[in-house]
Amino acid sequence: MKDYGVFMNERQTLKINDNNHLEIGGVDCSLLREQYGTPLYVMDQEYIENMCKIYSKTLTEEYGDGLICYASKAFSCLEIYRIINNMGIGADSVSIGELYTAKKANFPMQKICFHGNNKSLAELEFAIDNGVGYIVIDSYTEANEIDELCAKKGVKQNVLIRINPGVEAHTHHFIQTAKIDSKFGFSIQSGEAEQIVTYVAEKKNIVLKGLHCHIGSQIFESKSFELAVEKMTDFYKFLKDKYAIDFDVLNMGGGFGIFYTDGDAKKSYNEYAEYIKTISKSLLLAVNEKGIKKPYLILEPGRSIVGEAGITLYTAGNVKTIKDIKNYIAIDGGMCDNPRFALYQAKYTVVSADNMRADKNVKYTIAGKCCESGDIIAEDVMLPETKKGDLIAVLSTGAYNFSMSSNYNRNLIPPVVMVKNGQSRYVVKPQTIDDLLRNDV
Ligand SMILES: *Cc1c(COP(=O)(O)O)cnc(C)c1O
Repeated sequence: MKDYGVFMNERQTLKINDNNHLEIGGVDCSLLREQYGTPLYVMDQEYIENMCKIYSKTLTEEYGDGLICYASKAFSCLEIYRIINNMGIGADSVSIGELYTAKKANFPMQKICFHGNNKSLAELEFAIDNGVGYIVIDSYTEANEIDELCAKKGVKQNVLIRINPGVEAHTHHFIQTAKIDSKFGFSIQSGEAEQIVTYVAEKKNIVLKGLHCHIGSQIFESKSFELAVEKMTDFYKFLKDKYAIDFDVLNMGGGFGIFYTDGDAKKSYNEYAEYIKTISKSLLLAVNEKGIKKPYLILEPGRSIVGEAGITLYTAGNVKTIKDIKNYIAIDGGMCDNPRFALYQAKYTVVSADNMRADKNVKYTIAGKCCESGDIIAEDVMLPETKKGDLIAVLSTGAYNFSMSSNYNRNLIPPVVMVKNGQSRYVVKPQTIDDLLRNDV
């Protein structure tokens, strides 16, 4: 039995068709290459919509009042804000650029949480002027700035405070965010969280609605999320007992792990719902046990909504064999469109998109075309014998690929095509070579 089915993850929208080609959203990847060229980001709209649906349905059924806010740094462009708005969910933004994109897509700004550990005054003012739902405070300076801006404008702003619950999730340490020495949030353990809460609660022009935490990314263990709920609700109880502060809102962040390679769990839509169930159940229990107000629950998945929806298509270029050591396939993209291996040795499943059922009997390293030895997409992947011109697909590239892309080496950022029901369309058009010079003086 060949293992060509492993990545299909119980979905009808990513499969091998009768031509022995990879097909996504009802469109043959070979046709996508003919129509749009490579490198090309392809996003499966149905997958994104199904994830939004299962997440918000589960939150309502298992918990009640709350909101899924898509963490848009995973993949941000006008169309994604339109799609998630149609699905009725909210969003997270981390810069004026993301806020502005959301606004231009007519996204309801009151359904946005605005994050960041060093927001500029201009960003804070833009958020306040445009009625952003919650600003998530991550410094004293920021608290003062929001308070002053609001006083000047005669408005009040809802805020949350970013808390570090001190939960060590099992993931790469660059994407771990709640250890005691993290640059994000205020630690409960050290007493700093208590200090900032009482400080912000005194501010006249700020309405402190609750607290936020986000313990990291690509986390599979439900224990980590349960532990975070425990720490946060312990802290809510502590604040209630000591200061009679009883918050309306709790934002538990995102970070749900997805399938990249055989080392990761393959989940159906319903299995993804387990993350939401786990948090809902442990929060309901904690609320009852600890006698705190049942908060409006915000969850912020990013990667898991768009990650597996995306694939990247490349054309194989030079194939280089270093005898007895390594076979390289150089592709027409690289760290400029997917820097995740270079950043933290991220792993991917790579397939031969126009030859899906062939025996995978050669071990290759997929190298980019950029001038960096670390410009690798995947190391030691098994593929059929590959030659220049073959179509290569890298799976699970929907999150943190396009949004992390750059023009390094003055390569063009590939366009993004959305597919659904056998149709495809640009959602981000190709850059032109003149775009590269646009701001040059
Ligand atoms: C990045 C981020 C998320 C989303 O994380 P994923 O791993 O993509 O689900 C949620 N909340 C905050 C504050 C974040 O910074």
